[in-house]
Amino acid sequence: MREVFDRLPKGVSIGQVFSLRQTGTIVIVFLVCLFLRASVVQSKESAGVLRKESIGLRAGTAKIDITPEKSVKMAGYSSRTGLSTGVHDPLSARVIAFENNGKRLVLVSTDLIGFTGGTAEHFRKVILEQFKLEPGELFLSAIHTHAGPSPTIDEKEGHPNNLEYTKTLETKLIEAIRKSLNDMSPVQIGAGVGYSPVGANRRELRFDSVGDSSIKLGRNPYGPTDKEVLVMKLVKPLPAELSGQAGDDTIIAVLFDYATHATCLGGKNYVISGDVLGLAEQFVEKILGQDVIAPAFAGASGNIDPWFRVLPEFNTEPGWVPEPVLLGTMLGEEVVHVLRDIGKVSGGGEINPPDEGRIKTAFATLELPGKPRNQITMEKDFPATSLNITAARLGDIAFVGIGAEVLTEIGMSIKAASPYKHTFVITHCNGSAGYLPPKHLYIEGGYEINSSPFAPQAADIVVKQATEMLCGL
Ligand SMILES: [Zn+2]
Repeated sequence: MREVFDRLPKGVSIGQVFSLRQTGTIVIVFLVCLFLRASVVQSKESAGVLRKESIGLRAGTAKIDITPEKSVKMAGYSSRTGLSTGVHDPLSARVIAFENNGKRLVLVSTDLIGFTGGTAEHFRKVILEQFKLEPGELFLSAIHTHAGPSPTIDEKEGHPNNLEYTKTLETKLIEAIRKSLNDMSPVQIGAGVGYSPVGANRRELRFDSVGDSSIKLGRNPYGPTDKEVLVMKLVKPLPAELSGQAGDDTIIAVLFDYATHATCLGGKNYVISGDVLGLAEQFVEKILGQDVIAPAFAGASGNIDPWFRVLPEFNTEPGWVPEPVLLGTMLGEEVVHVLRDIGKVSGGGEINPPDEGRIKTAFATLELPGKPRNQITMEKDFPATSLNITAARLGDIAFVGIGAEVLTEIGMSIKAASPYKHTFVITHCNGSAGYLPPKHLYIEGGYEINSSPFAPQAADIVVKQATEMLCGL
């Protein structure tokens, strides 16, 4: 009965309900409630996808295959000049769109390296215009696989097959986002955290023949890593008339966020793969069934590689489990473990207070102090480099998207400063400004610092800005 009271429209008293019940027509109350609820719902036209101003968290999902059909130039290693020769596992784009009280949040995960070379700005403009989204309502991100195509819109320099691929990708992303916005239903959400040793700090201290030291890309098992595996579960609640009966709510999506480069495979590999994060997504979907989508998001992993890194190929020796499969499966199993432990879900507008799933978003472009790439010292007034930060809140779960390759210490600082129970730090999101290292590592140098476009003080500004945005949601 409690639920019936919670849903009573104003003006219908408890006494009336009891008298209705006595006459055996309680079903009519449900119908009246549904009718009244529907009649106050207003809708705004948004490029053919209605933005409903009804209270209660709703979500829609979509998954679309984005595996290149032709051979393409592959992303991530400048030494790799040839075209891809085959496909080990398919690439996908996965979308989860949320809506509550006219406010939206669209999370897009793609099995790509990132949106580089102006493609982030291009795709964002197209998507924001098409669906009338506010800048903070879109998280367009990539898992940073180095075994996928280079997206490009550079008509002069881009390979024709990559240009064609990128055009098709645009159409597919629009299609997937439209489907997720068109196919929304009430959902409940919950989050949990696990841990994984799959990622390793890659800043290795090495000594040359005369004993001088430097930081090289390798494996530093003692260096900091963010081992958290953040998992969010979306379920479709059972219809009210079935609640309390045997049977489970239906899981429709499992998001996870983990800080590692997707670089088990190196520059000698020529087959397409989602690498460790893509294989983890595929594993989770295989276990949970193909109706569930499992988008991955790359946490702050600028200096984190998989434990086995930059290998030339999938090892086919009899009995050997290829490293990307081994590590992807290990991460995927932790995701499923965490998922199965998430008991309480919240945000379903029909049962919980609507505030539990409320959506708030923010977007900022920072002009950060810059430095020339491949130099640590710099002229005083080197031009600023811009970086996009996106923040969103979904009840007590927060998301911070950063348009750069963020070193892991920075992600951990943002999580520590966040006022939310769970904060998903999502990198390669809404931009690709390059490596963002913390100030103290500039003394050590190394690859990420040399190739960064940012001055040492940039990271502190980003952490402060992200924290302020989170606190303001
Ligand atoms: Zn990278």
